[in-house]
Amino acid sequence: MNGLPDKLHDIYEEVARRNAGEAEFHQSVYEVLTSLGPVVQKHPEYVDSEVIRRLCEPERQIIFRVPWVDDRGTVQINRGFRVEFNSALGPFKGGLRFHPSVYLGIVKFLGFEQIFKNSLTGMPIGGGKGGADFDPKGRSDNEVMRFCQSLMTELYRHLGEYTDVPAGDIGVGQREIGYLFGQYKRITNRYESGVLTGKGMTWGGSQVRTEATGYGTVFFVNEILKAKNDTFEGKRVVVSGSGNVAIYAIEKIQELGGTVVACSDSSGFVVDEKGVDLDIIKEVKEVRRARIADYVDIRGGAAHFVEDRNVWSVPCEIALPCATQNEINGDEARALITNGCRVVAEGANMPCSPDAVKYFTEAGVTFAPGKAANAGGVATSALEMQQNASRDSWTFADTEMRLEQIMRRIHNRCLVTADEYGQPGNYVAGANIAGFIRVADAMLSLGLV
Ligand code: GLU
Repeated sequence: MNGLPDKLHDIYEEVARRNAGEAEFHQSVYEVLTSLGPVVQKHPEYVDSEVIRRLCEPERQIIFRVPWVDDRGTVQINRGFRVEFNSALGPFKGGLRFHPSVYLGIVKFLGFEQIFKNSLTGMPIGGGKGGADFDPKGRSDNEVMRFCQSLMTELYRHLGEYTDVPAGDIGVGQREIGYLFGQYKRITNRYESGVLTGKGMTWGGSQVRTEATGYGTVFFVNEILKAKNDTFEGKRVVVSGSGNVAIYAIEKIQELGGTVVACSDSSGFVVDEKGVDLDIIKEVKEVRRARIADYVDIRGGAAHFVEDRNVWSVPCEIALPCATQNEINGDEARALITNGCRVVAEGANMPCSPDAVKYFTEAGVTFAPGKAANAGGVATSALEMQQNASRDSWTFADTEMRLEQIMRRIHNRCLVTADEYGQPGNYVAGANIAGFIRVADAMLSLGLV
């Protein structure tokens, strides 16, 4: 990899060397560094104080054994992680991911992204991430509960409402947060609501948290469209994934008049030219926890299932990758461009490969990076913490209005910053630079810690 100014290049080389084999982490660091050239030119103090080098080294990394017993009585051993990346702006904040692909490189990429995303929200939250290589697929409720209890039996000592506040990510939703919170409460003998977010409504959760990442991504795209004097009305949209982010992105797109013609899961994708029926997707994915192919059995008629991972072959004007990292490669990006796609916004974390981003930018496709576009999830987590701290709870409408305002502010911050650094309309530069400056200034104020 090249194209970085000397000082940043040295930092990148050091990160790659010290974190050997962690490809996703290298990718996320490189992506941020490519935006920082004009910043270090204007503000050499960030280099002199080594604030960038410090940002690339987590404050603390925890790796631990998670033993549990499955329903057949067999002992299972998983590996748990929590990377506490940066707490200059507030307690470490970021989700837990349960997926067999989880290893230190994935947790570090997610934690690194989270620093800048959380900074961009303007809220008092640092960056962290965690998870385990546990595969929830096909596991019973009881197995998931035992796993969560074992994980928390180690993790609790590192958490606290002023220290580190996990939430969900892939494979971790309200059910898992419930088991984790129950175990935390039992061990500590404290009803410390603010220690986890994504809680249920009857035990300290916030309205809109479930919907927030998907809704927020669509609010962000709506701002992009508004800036072009356009709307969602009548637009063809493809959303990858069919988990929490995708489902609520689809819901909001439909509310705003767009038509979602395809969505997917790891087994393939469904195309429904009339527009996907969200109730059926919710039934298949949230209630049955089944494969997306079941959608077609229920829906019948016009819909069809394709057993292939490339949902990006379906023509659309707006594409929202909401599944997982590196799900759009260079070829897939080219197909999207050829088929007339004009806006891409990342609902997932780093779903577009560096090649894909390069092709979108060259082709004049508006590209919104995840750390801006999907920040609504963690922003609403911060709203949940605010409600917990004041022992209050707000209505759905009030919370949604705040989320929309936050997304509008992030959008504007990206554009203003991109302008200020000579790259008008470049959301990648705007998000990376604005996110970086807020956290870097806080780090400088706090001294060498
Ligand atoms: N996992 C989500 C993200 O990628 C949310 C994190 C949180 O709410 O703390 O931002």
